[in-house]
Amino acid sequence: MKSPNLYIYNSLSKKKEKFVPIHENAVGMYVCGPTVYSNVHLGNCRTFLSFDLIFRYLKHLGYKVRYVRNITDAGHLENDGESGDDPILKKARLEQLEPMEVVQKYTVDFHTIMAKFNALPPSIEPTATGHIYEQIAIVEKIIEEGLAYEKNGSVYFDVLKFNQTNNYGKLSGRQIEDMIANTRELAAQSDKKNPQDFALWKKAEPQHIMRWPSPWSDGFPGWHLECTAMSTKYLGNQFDIHGGGMDLKFPHHECEIAQAEACNHVSPVNYWMHANMLTLNGKKMSKSTGNFILPDNMFTGNNNILSKPFSPTVTKFFMYQAHYRSILDFSSEALEASEKGFLKLMDAYRTLSDLNTSNSSSIDINAWKKACYDAMNDDFNSPILIANLFEIVKYVNALKDGKETITETDLSLLKQTTHDFLFEVLGLEDTAIEESQDGEKLTAAIELLIQLRNKARADKDFAMSDKIRGELAAKGIQLKDGKDGTTFSLN
Ligand code: AMP
Ligand code: ZN
Repeated sequence: MKSPNLYIYNSLSKKKEKFVPIHENAVGMYVCGPTVYSNVHLGNCRTFLSFDLIFRYLKHLGYKVRYVRNITDAGHLENDGESGDDPILKKARLEQLEPMEVVQKYTVDFHTIMAKFNALPPSIEPTATGHIYEQIAIVEKIIEEGLAYEKNGSVYFDVLKFNQTNNYGKLSGRQIEDMIANTRELAAQSDKKNPQDFALWKKAEPQHIMRWPSPWSDGFPGWHLECTAMSTKYLGNQFDIHGGGMDLKFPHHECEIAQAEACNHVSPVNYWMHANMLTLNGKKMSKSTGNFILPDNMFTGNNNILSKPFSPTVTKFFMYQAHYRSILDFSSEALEASEKGFLKLMDAYRTLSDLNTSNSSSIDINAWKKACYDAMNDDFNSPILIANLFEIVKYVNALKDGKETITETDLSLLKQTTHDFLFEVLGLEDTAIEESQDGEKLTAAIELLIQLRNKARADKDFAMSDKIRGELAAKGIQLKDGKDGTTFSLN
């Protein structure tokens, strides 16, 4: 295989480090999957698409990658179960469904959306409920190590005791003293010895129907435990990469490290990777605050935020125009600019097949190709890669105009490299090109009709303006009048 010069920003050391996998040519990667109690929003998708790019690039480099991404279908309690509910149970009550029906419904939604984005499925997709036995075994081991205690049928991890020999807080940079100072008042209401202790096993209340027998009580595992159980089961006690959204660093990933170190006496992960947030109106996209867009509402334009529909490929291209560690804000203007760029790039890619060659090249294709790899080898810097790909648009125009020349060998290298990055690494879709171009034509036609309707309204020709609106609606095109003018959606 190629010997890559890949550098990864490690959230643990807070530095870019040269990537050296534990086993030559093979990579083990674990990414925290969704909690399946509602439809995934575009923020969630951004994190999963960031790791899809990483998975694709590692494979492209020639690594055999075992990519494990779990489904959280139990145990993700709000507020570590102190006062919070299980969101899956809450939803089951609300929709009058069996909890596993909720899990199935939103797992299917997640898979459908990821397929629309042309994301690759992981190698293994284990569920928390399928690994209760493994989780109980880890709790037993941590108790045996003297780092967890049972109280009223629940088991808690003893953070202060662990911190005497290990460093709790090393990933998130939080100091245990600060945590103690911030949480002192809460201590009295809990079974925990200290408020920073976290649940490994919770005894189920009578109304909690998702429950399993254990040595301590009929209950269910704590959220952090499932990822320790599933990552070490499928990737070993030490593996290469662990990823997730930035908001999972604390407490989730900090607790995963503590559990694994308590059990196995080794640091579980060599490279911790955290993807940054997608924001809307400057605030994190989030289910709980209502500040989010669902992917399907984006693809149809059925929302009050964007001027028109955007396809999954354009949405993904827009996301990759930002580095995975940068915050990305969502807006119509930025998406429109991405769509234009995407179409230009695809146009140039197609034109590569119609170019004449000559017996010398005035362009250094090898240097260009190296710049593409250098970008991705620098902590998966997709915006720089895309900026390099935009050079193609310039080349193609210059070659078409006879201002530059290219040999047959260089042209075929240029085509192959562009193809690899566009379709294999970025995972953009060939078929989406026509769709996007048709979409652009449709947008232009509808915008013309909107203008004609505005004119009819200004002329008080309401029969005409109603006809335009009505007939478009009959074809599934809804016009929406807002303070910034008229927008449309497709359904
Ligand atoms: P959850 O289903 O809440 O466990 O979230 C699934 C994944 O989506 C986690 O890795 C989160 O960090 C990530 N996530 C949640 N909100 C956002 C957001 N606004 N932008 C990017 N990633 C997010
Ligand atoms: Zn996790």
